[in-house]
Amino acid sequence: MWHSFEGAFQEHGPPPLRSSRFPAGLPGLKGLHAIKLRAADRLYGYMRKLIKQLQLAHVICTVENPLTNLLWETSYWTDVHKATDPYYCELRNCMFGGKRQKRTCPASNSSAVMSLNILCDGQHEHAPWSINNGVFDTALEAEYTQFLPQRWLQPSLSQLQVNTSCPMSLNMPKS
Ligand SMILES: [Zn+2]
Repeated sequence: MWHSFEGAFQEHGPPPLRSSRFPAGLPGLKGLHAIKLRAADRLYGYMRKLIKQLQLAHVICTVENPLTNLLWETSYWTDVHKATDPYYCELRNCMFGGKRQKRTCPASNSSAVMSLNILCDGQHEHAPWSINNGVFDTALEAEYTQFLPQRWLQPSLSQLQVNTSCPMSLNMPKS
């Protein structure tokens, strides 16, 4: 599962480096902002190359980012979208052990990802978004909750077993 931290600050943090009008980067960025943008672009370029290779090798891969992240609007992701025709799912972190109602979007070349499409049921309290000692809560919520990888792993493994014509056990040494 691929995760980019760049977009975690877009809703509640420092000024964004991109916009929907300028997904490749705001005009006139200089200094540290320009360096951060180039670093993110290098990461996105590597992501695009890696995912295309995985797609050709029929390997399940998933990209997870905040739903509102502008990664989804970049040319890097447009290329990935064309190459993989992914499934897009929307979930709320609070339903997977998160303290806040963060809107997260895993996109995958496997339909199994749709098992994570779980929105908030409203049966719990949400922690507020705030800044503590200069640290944005979005940074805390960027970490995966304990339950999200667990909930994602099982359907992925199930689909692997369905798609594998040769049972994996045949390749294992007999004990
Ligand atoms: Zn909730």
